[in-house]
Amino acid sequence: MTFAATILTLYPEMFPGPLGVSLANRAREEGKWSLETVQIRDFAADRHKTVDDTPAGGGAGMVLRVDVLAKVIDHARGLHPDCPVIAMTPRGTPLTQARVRELAAGPGVTVLCGRFEGFDERIFEGRGVEEVSIGDIVLSGGEPAALMLLDACIRLLPGVMGAASSGAEESFEQGLLEYPHYTRPALWEGRTIPEVLRSGDHAKIAAWRKSMAEVDTRSRRPDLWERHEGARVQPASGARQKKKD
Ligand code: SAM
Repeated sequence: MTFAATILTLYPEMFPGPLGVSLANRAREEGKWSLETVQIRDFAADRHKTVDDTPAGGGAGMVLRVDVLAKVIDHARGLHPDCPVIAMTPRGTPLTQARVRELAAGPGVTVLCGRFEGFDERIFEGRGVEEVSIGDIVLSGGEPAALMLLDACIRLLPGVMGAASSGAEESFEQGLLEYPHYTRPALWEGRTIPEVLRSGDHAKIAAWRKSMAEVDTRSRRPDLWERHEGARVQPASGARQKKKD
């Protein structure tokens, strides 16, 4: 099955951009995913091709018009009715590896890229559009965010990373950061590789990696660690709760 990526944008020339090289490019050439860009401006009603207007209530900047957005989304849904429509916005739900896995397992994704001050809020409920953020930063447009989302999905498509790596051990897959990596030379500017990694003892190496993933997650990402610990404890207490009922 080909994963269908459809990008609704004012800047189609920004695609495939970095997805036109390396793994993603090869995967597209092999038909593992397809890319289609749709120019939002083509759905403007007036002869000036206006897609934005001033914010209701006043203030700086311009807002993407809901009528234009509705038309472009309806067009995209006609092309790929089964693909979720996702708007990139800093107000959205932060993107997670779990959501990326879900998307990569589906038929594709239609991504709506904002510009200016963003979207008329009514579009989200009006067209059942999911709002997704790629982090607590503000970009000048949704296109780089869309590229990130697609990159994360494409590498998970069957056969893209090759049999050697399923990505299952990587950061966030088990709710933790990945353990640190090392390679040759064994000694570099007085710094060595942890002894255990050169021991050849696979059980010890696995235990060391698990412990490092936990230590690093706890110190670098207390938010992730808390969630991980919560998830570990939750099923047991949830099960006890069920028995009582
Ligand atoms: N006024 C908006 C706000 O403060 O929430 C920011 C608009 S931003 C300048 C223009 C567009 O960039 C947004 O509509 C969105 O598509 C995209 N964008 C900016 N930051 C983003 C983020 N963290 N995640 C996803 N998209 C983002």
